[in-house]
Amino acid sequence: MEDSSERPRNIELNDGNFMPLLGLGTWKSKTTSSEQCQGAVETAIAAGYRHLDTAHSYQNEVQLGRAIHSKMQQGIIRRQDMFIVSKLWCTYHAPEDIPVCLNKSLSDLQLDYLDLYLVHFPVGLKKVGDELFPMKDGKLLTTDIDYVDVWKGMEALKTSGKVKSIGVSNFSIPQLERLLSVAKIPPAVNQVELHPYLVQSELVEYCKSKNIVLTAYSPFGSPGRPKELHRGDRDPENLLKDPVVGEIAAKHKRTPAQVLLRFHIEQDTAVIPKSVKPNHILENTRIFDFSLDEEDMRALRSLNRGWKACLLEQLTSHPFYPF
Ligand code: NAP
Repeated sequence: MEDSSERPRNIELNDGNFMPLLGLGTWKSKTTSSEQCQGAVETAIAAGYRHLDTAHSYQNEVQLGRAIHSKMQQGIIRRQDMFIVSKLWCTYHAPEDIPVCLNKSLSDLQLDYLDLYLVHFPVGLKKVGDELFPMKDGKLLTTDIDYVDVWKGMEALKTSGKVKSIGVSNFSIPQLERLLSVAKIPPAVNQVELHPYLVQSELVEYCKSKNIVLTAYSPFGSPGRPKELHRGDRDPENLLKDPVVGEIAAKHKRTPAQVLLRFHIEQDTAVIPKSVKPNHILENTRIFDFSLDEEDMRALRSLNRGWKACLLEQLTSHPFYPF
């Protein structure tokens, strides 16, 4: 990857660790085959990605582990070159279950530490065997475990050295405010959905003011998300086909995907596009040798319509539902 931009590729977190701004998203990467998922991660590492985003709930950590180890054995990377992120799933919010979820991820990934561990979502779900989405009578079974207590378990994981940095995902400003008022270790990162249809300016400003780095998920609006998350007429056109994005891409002789990724780099936000296609994986790395000007950024921000791809609508009535 060439680098002619003045912007660094890594961002310093509030605990002194550094996170690469570009990472590979892997949610749904295993939808067709395990080989495809492992192959995509190997392709990404060969293309220069050093930040990988996974989660216990993505059910692909074994494949990621194989890919990482294969590249380490080939001498392409060392463990310390990589920034591996995973997430505590909602069914593991009880204090005794928090280390269990982390240990499962470490064992599946064949690693002895993670670079960043995130609370995946502020709402807890009941532990029913290994079910990720425990249901009864068509309803998700939630718990009332407070995310503030979950955070105490996350702090203990950082102290143990099994995770280098800790953070949250899908947390709102009031939830961050409450967490910060009691935390011994402030969250280093909040991973949330961000793109020009959901610019979340207030959250971006708030996190900046509190030295919490944002990671943008679903930067293309998650066009490959599961059918259950499609909302028919309430969904806008695919972001990658938006005419304004297309015009800016043409102006810079770039692709719409590259413009949508660069949008985050311009505001010091990390971004984790998912792809299993080698041409897309490579295309998505070429975002450090051009920049968007103020006019481009204004035009992209003006597309905001507060639209979220990932809503988890089944949880809207829970007091800790963040959106
Ligand atoms: P996304 O990255 O917005 O979009 C992925 C889709 O875009 C895939 O269908 C992919 O297809 C396609 N794509 C990728 N590069 C492309 C390119 N250059 N041109 C055209 N199409 C392209 O969606 P996402 O997977 O929802 O979000 C990214 C990552 O964020 C996830 O994988 C996950 O790691 C993370 N995430 C976190 C949360 C959370 O709650 N914390 C929620 C959602 C997502 P191909 O694979 O065929 O290229």
